[in-house]
Amino acid sequence: MTMRPILILAILGSMALVAGCSKPAPNLTADTIYTGGDIVTVNDAQPAVEALAVKDGKILAAGTRAEIERAHKGQGTTIVDLAGKTLLPAFLDPHSHYINSLTMANQVNVFAPPAGPGKDAASIVAELKKFRAARKIPEGEVIMAYGYDETSMPDGRTLSRDDLDKDFPNNPVMVGHTSLHGAVLNSAAFRKYGISAETKTPPGGIIVRKPGSNEPDGLVMETAWLPIFGSLPKPTPEQEVEWSRAGQMLYAAAGITTAQEGATHAADIAIMQRAAAGGATLIDVIAFPFILDLDAILKDNPPDTFGSYKNHFKLGGVKVTLDGSPQGRTAFFTTPYLVDGPNGEKNWSGELPFPQDTVNGWFKRVYDLGLPLNVHANGDAAIDVLLRAHESAAAGSLDKDRRTTIIHSQFVRPDQLDKYVAFKFIPSFFTEHTFYFGETHVKQRGREQAYFLSPMRTAIDKGLRPTNHTDFNVSPLDQMVVVWTAVNRVSRGGEVIGPDQRVTPIEALKAITINAAHQYFEEKSKGSLEPGKLADLVILDKNPLKVDPMTIKDIKVVETLKEGKSIYKAK
Ligand SMILES: [Zn+2]
Repeated sequence: MTMRPILILAILGSMALVAGCSKPAPNLTADTIYTGGDIVTVNDAQPAVEALAVKDGKILAAGTRAEIERAHKGQGTTIVDLAGKTLLPAFLDPHSHYINSLTMANQVNVFAPPAGPGKDAASIVAELKKFRAARKIPEGEVIMAYGYDETSMPDGRTLSRDDLDKDFPNNPVMVGHTSLHGAVLNSAAFRKYGISAETKTPPGGIIVRKPGSNEPDGLVMETAWLPIFGSLPKPTPEQEVEWSRAGQMLYAAAGITTAQEGATHAADIAIMQRAAAGGATLIDVIAFPFILDLDAILKDNPPDTFGSYKNHFKLGGVKVTLDGSPQGRTAFFTTPYLVDGPNGEKNWSGELPFPQDTVNGWFKRVYDLGLPLNVHANGDAAIDVLLRAHESAAAGSLDKDRRTTIIHSQFVRPDQLDKYVAFKFIPSFFTEHTFYFGETHVKQRGREQAYFLSPMRTAIDKGLRPTNHTDFNVSPLDQMVVVWTAVNRVSRGGEVIGPDQRVTPIEALKAITINAAHQYFEEKSKGSLEPGKLADLVILDKNPLKVDPMTIKDIKVVETLKEGKSIYKAK
């Protein structure tokens, strides 16, 4: 008996559908229906659909065009014709340094090609002039650039103050080094910061001098740079919001609607919270306070405030850093580098800046607070240290679902990946190293180890859910290059760095969508196109699953939407 009214309704409903006169109930009427192009859902249960319905910033339904229009097209529904472009879930950034985007939006990109236009000294100067003209920068105001790499300058002809002085006699100019540890200054900048031939080089610092003279040549690094860096102007309250929005636009332009601030100091947490309250809310930002600042941060942000968004900003957990970088020969290995250390050390394996006991204590503290932990580790010896720290701090619940994420995991060994599986760790790889530093790693670590760097194929085959990142601003925000390197692993010189570790385009996409959402405990709301999830969307000019894999890096972001609202459109 109870079945009958339902049956009748169902029959009436299907008759109405056949007659083509159905009107969806208001709660089922979409604001927007996307169709007319490929739709990649990143949902294994329904990998490709013809149409996607969005309502109130959320995904209402995905399916065939006929199905979706029949059930969700009402009077107010906008039909968006993708016109052959490809719709995907917006990208999540599994690891970068968002805070740097605030100032970079006001600086000049002089990365070497393909990441930027800085192929030689003349092109760097040309970019600076373009920037000055576009922003109408008055005389006397500081101009800053980022991404300078002297090792990529042709014929060893590096950038000097003389290159900058001719066109910038009255603006202090500082061209930031790609390591973030220094800059090339012009004469106006040297005057402003009181560095001259008389200035002694501080211990641990570098002031490059002109040949046969004591005159500074331009490049200032490490402890000689730190006082300048420390005295750079801080944003005013209005600038905090304005710069934050500009920084978020850099992410939006890359199709990213969830960004990470990967090692955050207390003062920067406060800036991000003020900016978010002031309206810098284009995208979601997740910050991981740096362990050494944790006490200061917990005073204003108790543990129970972690993990939930306020004004599109959330504290995601805590960041611990164990070693340096493999290209800089500061990553910590169980076996020596094939070359000397950064200061000429023989038989060099890198070092751990902190003793094992200290690391154990950090893990225990973070786990006891119930907070997620992100750990920076590159070399296999650093990874041994973190595995031991986990075994000590998590004894009794080694496999609890903590989403402990090992940032970079670049030189993880296969036996260590087995422990990642046992401990439910997430490796967040950095496959862009195969392109940017492939040859360097072969030279410094040997071919066998270099070929296993960021081993995404093995990790997936073992059942892990790896993510993949830019470490911005170590490398530029470009998710298509991230995917391209995971799929191809081709170095600058054209060598395939580990053919066995290449993954498929959909696996590479998962590493910046659904797997990244899982890393942040957000897999129920983000990372795939499924009903009920946020309508965080990206439209690409081509389908990364269909193009020649070597051209994935050339795919462009056409539009980015956050919760159904367009936040970026390519010009
Ligand atoms: Zn980083």
